[in-house]
Amino acid sequence: MLKDELRRLWKTLDLHCPALFDEPLAQHTWFQVGGPADMLVFPRTTAELLQLWKLAGDYGIPKFILGGGSNLIVRDGGIRGIAVSLRRGLNKMRVEGRELTAEAGANLAGVLKLAQREGLAGLEDLAGIPGTLGGAVYGNAGASEIEIGRLTKTVKVMEETALIRELNHQEFSYRSFNLPEGSLILEANFELAHGSAEQIEKRMAENLMRRRKTQPLGEHCAGCIFKNPPGCYAGRLIDEAGLKGMAKGGAAVSTIHANFIVNKGGATAKDILQLMEQVKEAVANQKGISLEEEVVVVGED
Ligand SMILES: Cc1cc2nc3c(=O)[nH]c(=O)nc-3n(C[C@H](O)[C@H](O)[C@H](O)COP(=O)(O)OP(=O)(O)OC[C@H]3O[C@@H](n4cnc5c(N)ncnc54)[C@H](O)[C@@H]3O)c2cc1C
Repeated sequence: MLKDELRRLWKTLDLHCPALFDEPLAQHTWFQVGGPADMLVFPRTTAELLQLWKLAGDYGIPKFILGGGSNLIVRDGGIRGIAVSLRRGLNKMRVEGRELTAEAGANLAGVLKLAQREGLAGLEDLAGIPGTLGGAVYGNAGASEIEIGRLTKTVKVMEETALIRELNHQEFSYRSFNLPEGSLILEANFELAHGSAEQIEKRMAENLMRRRKTQPLGEHCAGCIFKNPPGCYAGRLIDEAGLKGMAKGGAAVSTIHANFIVNKGGATAKDILQLMEQVKEAVANQKGISLEEEVVVVGED
């Protein structure tokens, strides 16, 4: 469906959630690159999301879920169809005993803060990972040997058909969650351990301090670009290949952490993707190892 048709269709519907047309996604990604989404919608309730999902299914409109945009490269031509953000409406959190449940649009930092305040330990090593809970579950985000999947009891997902069901922790593997095709993550539930709020806070602060020293936090980036191959670190391979500082247009391999690419200003998605190819080629030639992307790449050229 063309974007003008989409706009016309939207006007005829009884769906009142906020929507932006032709919205530049560079404004919604940490890299600050990416063309426009035909439409970016912010459902306020699960009922609205369900309606939207069914609508997209009925009309065959492509859909994409945007989290915090912190592990994402949107190509320069942008995204056709509907991009959905759960951040404004589906971001509620609750604690019952040792269980914490949060909707996918909640900020991961907010989830960690709530756990800390309630004296619930386990998630604190994830401190400093930006983005939403949905994005963290999608990519099984992790740091310091901890992955979010290991602490997750259940994940509520909405399937392509708008059917809602629960999946468990067995669906997680290294930087991956086995989300059925066309589904989205609605909510996740964690079983945590009782701990001292002060100790948890201290550990979170230590993690943040460590990140400030080892990652280019003041720059526009998307975290680690490549997954760690079995038994080694992608960053070390890139560093040993002498690629720190290598640039393409406005994009450069970070001089602080070689597995980060940074937008030095004015980079396009094309610059970043070309630089990624150059890095992969150099590592393959020098080390005989083929790097696999951790960052998600979407959209049209
Ligand atoms: C400075 C910095 C440091 C980082 N450090 C780490 C780190 O230590 N460890 C780590 O693992 N990552 C790290 N990252 C990467 C990133 O923060 C995580 O991968 C984060 O969990 C992505 O969440 P997001 O909401 O931003 O997802 P996005 O980038 O918006 O999306 C990523 C993918 O998740 C999908 N998605 C998002 N929400 C949903 C949903 N509700 N349902 C279905 N699919 C969904 C999107 O469609 C997309 O395919 C870092 C990034 C930065 C910028």
